[in-house]
Amino acid sequence: MKQVVLFLSLLPLVLGQSPDAVLSDPKVKEVIASIQRNNAWTMQQQVSICEIAAPPFQEAERAKEFARRLAALGMADIRTDSEGNVISRLPGSSEQKPLIVFSAHLDTVFPPGMDVKVKQEGKRLRGLGIGDDCRGLAVVLAVAKAFRESDLKLKGTVLFVATVGEEGQGDLRGVRHLFTKELKGQVDAFISIDGTGFRVTARGVGSNRYKVTYRGRGGHSYGAFGMPNPAHAMGRAIARIADIEVPQSPRTTFNVGTVTGGTSVNSVPIEVSMELDIRSESAKELATLDERLRAALQFGLDAEKKRWPDSKAMLELEIKTMGLRPAAEPSDEMPIVQKALGTAKALGITIFATGSGSTDSNLPMSLGIPAVTLGGGGMSPNAHSIDEWFEEREDSYKAPQWAALLVAALAGL
Ligand SMILES: [Zn+2]
Repeated sequence: MKQVVLFLSLLPLVLGQSPDAVLSDPKVKEVIASIQRNNAWTMQQQVSICEIAAPPFQEAERAKEFARRLAALGMADIRTDSEGNVISRLPGSSEQKPLIVFSAHLDTVFPPGMDVKVKQEGKRLRGLGIGDDCRGLAVVLAVAKAFRESDLKLKGTVLFVATVGEEGQGDLRGVRHLFTKELKGQVDAFISIDGTGFRVTARGVGSNRYKVTYRGRGGHSYGAFGMPNPAHAMGRAIARIADIEVPQSPRTTFNVGTVTGGTSVNSVPIEVSMELDIRSESAKELATLDERLRAALQFGLDAEKKRWPDSKAMLELEIKTMGLRPAAEPSDEMPIVQKALGTAKALGITIFATGSGSTDSNLPMSLGIPAVTLGGGGMSPNAHSIDEWFEEREDSYKAPQWAALLVAALAGL
């Protein structure tokens, strides 16, 4: 996940079931206390689940083990859906409603074949994905264990889920499947645990990613000179893109990330390509930027053709979509955000601001379904790098406590 933090204005706490009231329930208190008692167990879960590799599109082995652990905790109706998400149920006391999904993601950004052994160096746990999102998976298990071992019956039903395909290449395929097929129209609220620290991600940064290719006839750089050159067309397009003006707020960005193509220094290339991404917190700004981007790409093509009006050599442009993540800007005054802030406060966790990010929550947020992503506690500054590590903090156990309290506040007692 990626995070940008914005500062909050002081907001009124408008809450249905107040976090303090939920926390004063003796059975909830016991759940909260047991999570702290079982902190060492939670840490073991985090390490051991992380030692099963889960590259993009290859999460099945980790998924199977996660399902096995949910079964060992006595969760109901455990299944793996057709996309690969693991889904289990904590039945509510009387009714199905509200239906809450509580989740973390299985996949990492790392390719197959890398060493996934977690190495302990003092307090530091070094491992690929140890924070993002093995921490989240451990928090989901910790909360499942605490609820299962308590006498507490929540009113609504909670689905404990591990999703596939949260990271870049996966393009939210797991959560997309949940909300457009598997659980379409059923979910009342979504919570995911992603990343570390104590964060509330309440807005979704949208992104569009494309692979752009310019193709021409190609030929000898000297002998065939005078025809449209795909590299020159792409250069013209990049120059246009580089000059696009975007707002600072809502934060909106663009990037040409890779540039490849051609065969030799003395050949007019047959083909050149680039990969680019554009992002915004605002769906409207993202759409506007997308239009400008496409205009710049078309300009590159047209201007290069115009440069050589007498040439009959072809020049074409292809735009392939690599990923589309919807943007969403729900208000901080939404009850789920207020409950996330209120439950943190009730546990003595200080949150200065809600943030925006690119997480599984983007999808439900874009559909108008209340959603937040919470940090899993602890510290892990190098996510997505081979130098990823996780360090516990004295209050790391408060992250699963926070999640449990929010789940209880949303599902109702
Ligand atoms: Zn993540």
